[in-house]
Amino acid sequence: MRGKVFFVGAGPGALDLLTVRAVRVLEQADVVLHDELVPHDFVTLLHPAAAVVNVGKRCGKPGATQDAINALMIRYAAEGQRVARLKCGDPSVFGRLGEEMEALREADIPFEIVPGVTAALAAAAAARVSLTDRRLASRVQFATANLARGQQQDWAQCLAQNTTLVIYMPGRDFGRLADELLGAGAGADLPCAIVACAGTLEEEVHCTRVSRLSELSLARSPAIVIVGEVVRELENTADSRALGCEDIIPQLISV
Ligand code: SAH
Repeated sequence: MRGKVFFVGAGPGALDLLTVRAVRVLEQADVVLHDELVPHDFVTLLHPAAAVVNVGKRCGKPGATQDAINALMIRYAAEGQRVARLKCGDPSVFGRLGEEMEALREADIPFEIVPGVTAALAAAAAARVSLTDRRLASRVQFATANLARGQQQDWAQCLAQNTTLVIYMPGRDFGRLADELLGAGAGADLPCAIVACAGTLEEEVHCTRVSRLSELSLARSPAIVIVGEVVRELENTADSRALGCEDIIPQLISV
């Protein structure tokens, strides 16, 4: 029997934000190779005999190298196993899917991709923001603040009119991010929402302006930043309890 790799989007970190398809693939997996930010209780879905390998890296601690992850996927699939490669959010968004697909193509291993809820969408839901409110934005940009060493994101390219910018991997130094955005021409009073642990019980929503981003100190991670006029309404939300779902009451903290 020929094995296969399923790249599975795990969503933003809560088990109930997995898709039904993701659940089915996990239930049938022989091996799961997972990243760090996936829901910790996904193991409850697995066959008791399934093998679980954490290949993630977190807080600067090195995980498995990309080559080692590729080699594991290929080895298990070549043995005829059904491999679930579980990645947080959606596999195609800042998830090194390109390198992993390339390795499988070279090894002639079949694969499928199961999409997941990417962090930008979980954050928009948490903050009750319409990313493309047609009165304010006709575009959404997903950008990372974490490029290869020495490189800086071209924020000027991302800050066009009528654009909502969602910044993945903003890092912990919000002062630096603010300086970069202001340096690239962002208006000092451009609103931004910072959402930590979107979609989970630890969800936290902060609302501020680009010029005041540096005052923010986040207790939780991971976090993502939504920048743009679509966030302005959020600032005017007096009742923080109006945010979030009934069983998840995030805090709205204005700095
Ligand atoms: N493939 C993932 C992104 C991986 S990059 C996706 O589609 O969401 C990792 C970054 O995603 C984190 O640094 C953070 O910016 C963001 N992220 C992931 N989960 C998050 C969550 N629950 N809340 C806020 N940001 C999250």
